[in-house]
Amino acid sequence: MLKLYNSLSRAIETFKPIKKSEVGFYSCGPTVYDNVHVGNLRTLILADVLHRVLKFDGLKINFVMNITDVGHLTSDGDSGQDKMEKNAKTVEDVMAVAKKYTDAFLADIKAINILTPDQLPKASDHIKEQIEMIQSLIDKGFAYESTDAVYFDISKAKDYTKLIGQNLEDMKLGARQEVVKDPNKHNDHDFVLWFKTVGRYEHHIQRWQSPWGEGFPGWHIECSAMSRKYLGDHFDLHVGGVDLKFPHHTNEIAQSEGFSGKQFVNYWIHGEHLLIDQGKMAKSEGNFMTLQTVIDKGINPLAYRYLTLTSHYRSKLNFTWDSLTAAQNALNNLYQEISSYPNEGKTIQEFSAAFKDAVNDDLDMPKGIAIMWDMIKSDNSEQDKLATIFEFDKVLGLDLEKVWMTNKEIPVEVSNLVKDRDNARTVRDFAKSDEIRKQLEEKGYEVDDTPDGTKLKKKFR
Ligand code: AMP
Ligand code: ZN
Repeated sequence: MLKLYNSLSRAIETFKPIKKSEVGFYSCGPTVYDNVHVGNLRTLILADVLHRVLKFDGLKINFVMNITDVGHLTSDGDSGQDKMEKNAKTVEDVMAVAKKYTDAFLADIKAINILTPDQLPKASDHIKEQIEMIQSLIDKGFAYESTDAVYFDISKAKDYTKLIGQNLEDMKLGARQEVVKDPNKHNDHDFVLWFKTVGRYEHHIQRWQSPWGEGFPGWHIECSAMSRKYLGDHFDLHVGGVDLKFPHHTNEIAQSEGFSGKQFVNYWIHGEHLLIDQGKMAKSEGNFMTLQTVIDKGINPLAYRYLTLTSHYRSKLNFTWDSLTAAQNALNNLYQEISSYPNEGKTIQEFSAAFKDAVNDDLDMPKGIAIMWDMIKSDNSEQDKLATIFEFDKVLGLDLEKVWMTNKEIPVEVSNLVKDRDNARTVRDFAKSDEIRKQLEEKGYEVDDTPDGTKLKKKFR
């Protein structure tokens, strides 16, 4: 039984899907104006681990992740430059930037084995749905039109701050959570549903016709409109980083529940941040690293995935090159270890059950990793260990089967060298056999002379 910490109730709860046939699952995706950083990827790996655990438990999932390609301002409030329009002059420029970074994002998530979402809707393809929702919010008295925008009236929302569990007055508002004092607003915290391209946004490039004149949607409405379209008014799970609890997820709840009159999401899962030098990794801080930086240092992107699995998602994780190198070494040791295992074994029940319990216990991946190493070090047969670790890898996503298969495909020149070396040993030409051993090492292979004959191992370093 899957147990998860639900930010909404601030407690660990047993996960009960709304429908047995399919779990509805939404994760806030990237704003495609630049490459994502490894901090963003930590949160996406959390979503992926949850996705994989649900599948591991035999559930069917509809996993939706949005692509923000419109209207995300540099501030999380209602002001600032639109990130998408930095350096752009025309709509074509904006869409070219969006395409470039959407492709880069898809390549990144593939490199760290994030299962492709079932739907990847773009905000710019769902303007009609956003306008319809805003109109309905106005009709129902949750929103009002002002001279420069349509605002959501937070005083009309039922328990507006239920996700953060404190009053707005008691909240310490950080840089990402500032309030814009605007004489057009009824309450300081009212947020924009639709920006009119007048005044401060007169020159905004992306604009659409609406009942309130030309303009563009606020950042929060896209997630409400697209989750509704693909998952319905009420669905199971919503994931994001802790910084999105307020204002983004708080506003999603206000919009969606105002619109439907029903509960929006049953379980809200929030991942802690990746830190660097003990501060949050963020674009705005200029302290971020992309996956490409990791690859350029000769590190396997999956070593970064492994690193994130060694800390619990609700704990902060401080990024250092030393810890990433240690993760790379651990992953190489794992690859090395399993590469010579024979197949056709059976899963080891004791370890399989312990692993399943750990990952279902609020996604306790550090414990899952520890169980995996205990299993590797146990005195079970190698073929049973292989079957068991392939089972674990459905959740871990470390490419174990692929690495094991590749290792079986020994290049012809390597197997010829092994034959030559065996022949040299038969005629006791040890100088030649040592020479061939060196050649094999240069090609990344190690030979072991065992009573059962020569064993070849690919080296992972
Ligand atoms: P953003 O592009 O800032 O909206 O972030 C996209 C996703 O990455 C959100 O779920 C954020 O909460 C998450 N995120 C941003 N920075 C970090 C970080 N340093 N560590 C973990 N997650 C982050
Ligand atoms: Zn969102």
